[in-house]
Amino acid sequence: MINERMLGLGKQPNPIRVQYAYGLKRKAEIGEENVYDLSIGNPSIPAPPAVRARIEELLEEPPEVLHGYTMAAGLESARQAVADNLRERFGIPATAAQVYLTAGATAALYITTAAITHPGDEVIVNAPYFTEYKVMIESAQCSCVEVPMRASDFQLDIDALRAAVNVKTAAVVINSPNNPVGCIYTEQNIKDLAAMLEEKEAEVGHPIYLISDEPYREITYGKEVPFTANYYRDTIVCYSWAKSLSLPGERIGYIYVSDLMGDAADVAAAVGGAGRALGFICAPVLFQRVIETCINEPTNVDAYAANRALLTGMLDELGYEYIQPDGAFYLWVKALEDDSQAFCDKARNHDLLLVNSDCFGVPGWARAGYCVSATTIKNSRKAWEALKTDYE
Ligand code: PLP
Repeated sequence: MINERMLGLGKQPNPIRVQYAYGLKRKAEIGEENVYDLSIGNPSIPAPPAVRARIEELLEEPPEVLHGYTMAAGLESARQAVADNLRERFGIPATAAQVYLTAGATAALYITTAAITHPGDEVIVNAPYFTEYKVMIESAQCSCVEVPMRASDFQLDIDALRAAVNVKTAAVVINSPNNPVGCIYTEQNIKDLAAMLEEKEAEVGHPIYLISDEPYREITYGKEVPFTANYYRDTIVCYSWAKSLSLPGERIGYIYVSDLMGDAADVAAAVGGAGRALGFICAPVLFQRVIETCINEPTNVDAYAANRALLTGMLDELGYEYIQPDGAFYLWVKALEDDSQAFCDKARNHDLLLVNSDCFGVPGWARAGYCVSATTIKNSRKAWEALKTDYE
């Protein structure tokens, strides 16, 4: 018999991908230049030339070697490259044994959640939050507990989090720079979170893990992103090169279980076990090899910074409200009515494709991704104008 939950998920796919699929269809009908698809987080900046050079170099290797299986956690050399990178950049005493390579941040998040929870546990997310967290948490048979971020500045609401933590809390998920809002949690905010979680760990008598989802770590516009594992011992970092190296379709990322954690080796072993149980073993090998040498390639954010200025300037002129993003490549725009879906449907009538905020756990907003060409943003002006007129 079909699993009802899976049937439901299959029949109601991720709304971001629904918009994206509609965009592709619509572009075929009316021409690419007439559709302003700001739905999906597909980087518009090409991968660095070093990635292509490395792939070409690797293609010279004997195919049976190049395409062979690696150990479940990945190649020792690639894991070592990650540990070296974390040590050099953030000063954490990272070791390769604590690194598990994954098919992107998605696999990293699923493995991590499975490794540190039991059915019936609670996992806290900060709303608005990345759409797939709820699916991931519920797949581990846990409850997704939503705590709103502070409305005034989109920082973590420590008092609200404190009130939500209880003996059933297995983990708190944070994501900074944030999708969908673009906020970056300050060092003080992370310190306050760490202090509160330490206090709560002592009270409940078990670890409360911090799952730090960091695919946008390098996509920032001037503000520092504190490295969470330096502030809180029980941190597990989930990372992806999807955005920083513009490799979303290649599915390559990692889990880093902090070496500073009390039971670090056991948690890393549980991550290996969860990888095995879920079938997430041996991340795509060609890209493990790319990472070995390209891990220190700088991320070019110039085009995103320019797009951010272009889009916010335009929305200022048109009188839209939004949250100024400090990182990632999304703009969180106040919908012009309470019903976000209705607002996005009206936008779609003008071939402007946004994502409704309900799927991020919050009503009344919409997400506009500016990881597109500057021309798309410029050309979208008439659609934003027409959308505004719909409400006048
Ligand atoms: N976490 C966040 C916050 C994201 O925005 C995304 C993708 O957009 C992911 C995780 C998934 O990343 P990946 O494509 O590497 O699986």
